Amino acid sequence: MVDRNRYVYMCSNAILLDKNLRRFKPDPHLILSIHLDGREPTHDRAVCRKGVYRTAVAAIKNAKAKGFQVMTNSTIFNGEDPGEFRQFFAECSALGIDGMMISPGYAYEKAPQKDIFLKTEETKKWFRETLGDWRRQGWDFNHSPFYLDFLEGKRDYECTPWGIPLRNVFGWQKPCYLLADGGYAKSYQELLDTTEWSRFGRASGNPKCAQCMTHVGYEPSAVEDSFSSFPKFFELLRDVANTARLARVAHARQAKSYETLVAEYQGGQVSTFNKTKIDEGSAANGNHRAGCVEC
Ligand code: SF4
Repeated sequence: MVDRNRYVYMCSNAILLDKNLRRFKPDPHLILSIHLDGREPTHDRAVCRKGVYRTAVAAIKNAKAKGFQVMTNSTIFNGEDPGEFRQFFAECSALGIDGMMISPGYAYEKAPQKDIFLKTEETKKWFRETLGDWRRQGWDFNHSPFYLDFLEGKRDYECTPWGIPLRNVFGWQKPCYLLADGGYAKSYQELLDTTEWSRFGRASGNPKCAQCMTHVGYEPSAVEDSFSSFPKFFELLRDVANTARLARVAHARQAKSYETLVAEYQGGQVSTFNKTKIDEGSAANGNHRAGCVEC
């Protein structure tokens, strides 16, 4: 796919990345997308295993040193501390990664712990608190700025579930990455033609979509909006140019290494994140997140 100039985001928890990196070669079309759900205690709790965060960070450093493009991919759950995540974004930026992806978690039907997922108003409040000044901080998100505005409640969109579809060994999932209500289509055209799109999205009244603000549904809507008219397009261009300018200022101001940032944070600054006990075992002992059960 890379040889065909397709952009490939290769998702990994990075546990085996170091061992397998030799099987790939750096390419502008290949992006290693590393799953990190927060700083060390939070991420290790999320994946139910101590040490995974450190393994992932070491793998990121190694991949960057070898010339790979690396991004992080984080899901935000209810109860996460905005202060910790601001530190997390600063530390990821200091690692020299090529972008960060974030999304509120989706409360899928089989999730045993529904209370860990953010509802729409909670999502907006959390992202407003955490990302209110992301442009000034110089944080490089791999998202349309309009989607980040949407998460902060500054814009409102309807879902575009066909914008970032899921294709797996069964075919094209209907209607979206998060739901498989309609089974699978054999081709993208069949997905478009045979899905009852009016049954999905928040405006449809479908309870499964009611609290969803995930990037798979709403980032395409934000992108479409930004190209929908000349004024919108110029608004986007102005935003991108302004963000780049602010990022240059921020990077010149905060030229701290990842290690310095971590040491400063651990060296006495208030740590307000939820100190829920890290589960060192499997998902089976009950101290886990819903995601571990399905993972
Ligand atoms: S709102 Fe869109 S992306 Fe979210 S679950 Fe419904 S169809 Fe899927």
